[in-house]
Amino acid sequence: MSVEEEVLRIQKKLNKMTSEDGSGQEQALDLLKQLQTLNINLEVLTKTRIGMTVNALRKSSKDDEVISLSKTLIKNWKKFLSGSNAKETSSTSTSKPKRDKEEKSSREDKDRDKEKKLPNQFPPSSSNTTDAVRLKCREMLAAAIRCDTEEFEGCASPEDLAEELEEAIFQEFKNTDMRYKNRVRSRIANLKDVKNPNLRTNFRIGAIPASRLAVMTAEEMANDEIKQLRERFTKEAINDAQLATVQGTKTDLLKCGKCKKRNCTYNQVQTRSADEPMTTFVLCNECGNRWKFC
Ligand SMILES: [Zn+2]
Repeated sequence: MSVEEEVLRIQKKLNKMTSEDGSGQEQALDLLKQLQTLNINLEVLTKTRIGMTVNALRKSSKDDEVISLSKTLIKNWKKFLSGSNAKETSSTSTSKPKRDKEEKSSREDKDRDKEKKLPNQFPPSSSNTTDAVRLKCREMLAAAIRCDTEEFEGCASPEDLAEELEEAIFQEFKNTDMRYKNRVRSRIANLKDVKNPNLRTNFRIGAIPASRLAVMTAEEMANDEIKQLRERFTKEAINDAQLATVQGTKTDLLKCGKCKKRNCTYNQVQTRSADEPMTTFVLCNECGNRWKFC
């Protein structure tokens, strides 16, 4: 029997159960445990809509164990779903049986409030997409941005940067055709280029904004200008050291990963041997976020 058939068999029994008056909870628990052992993928979820069945069971059940296992299953399946599919699951709350008691629906309201605060919907983004191609591109871009051992604690995360970059590229083409894909591909290749670590670093620290990287030519990405951006830091830092100021250097070249503003102060420190690059400590003057890179 295939997973799909197995799920449908269990679903049939569960459906019968939820249409009854909440009896047979032990059998329900048994069926849920069976579901838990099955290797249910996105395809099976979509085809069988078992998520809705379990959600309905969760709402009609009075058994704590049944409710809690239902929640666990739904939570796990939600990981497969994004955007539009997830919406489908939540729409079951409106199609719930009318016979629900009042006290129960108030408990559901609380549950729903909790669901809203789930971390997977955070941070809220204006550029959320459910398009599989776009999500895949973001994933690949994030991997390319991440692909080194340098530390960038406190900088914008690779995921955030990838999203910003992908969004900028998408806004130009408004679709995911060949030109879009080529553009994404060339960004990945250049971000991953071991001979050109400056591009990635400059992008991560915000010296190159996503909107700029989105449209740069291959020549521009490999250009000396990229190197100079970092050299400018070093130069400023040297001047800074000569003036012996302890407050650090103000710059609008760096972008805060938290508040996205460009009002930072940085200090460069030789933390290791003299021939190794200096570590740059940055403080955001707007929100107090601190990070470092080297
Ligand atoms: Zn900030």
